[in-house]
Amino acid sequence: MAKAKEEFGGGASLEDELSCPICLCLYRNPVSLSCGHSFCKQCIQKALGAQQQSKTPYSCPMCKLQLGPILELQKNFQLSETEGIKCICYAHSLPCI
Ligand SMILES: [Zn+2]
Ligand SMILES: [Zn+2]
Repeated sequence: MAKAKEEFGGGASLEDELSCPICLCLYRNPVSLSCGHSFCKQCIQKALGAQQQSKTPYSCPMCKLQLGPILELQKNFQLSETEGIKCICYAHSLPCI
């Protein structure tokens, strides 16, 4: 997974880099969508569940790429190395575990 993170000049902290864009916490059970975006499994499931309720096709919350009717969540093996890191949630009061 070659990411162009270098262009941020090291300004992005490790936590930024390993944070789910939905809950802004460190990834918990990280999964990747076919577009390459990664989310916590429970975050993307919640987001996609809302899409399902509004009868819209599944799409990535970040780039809106349509994911098709059958959702395939791929475990992100690179990010799953962080599973042992304790999640500290700044963004919301819900437990991020
Ligand atoms: Zn999350
Ligand atoms: Zn995406």
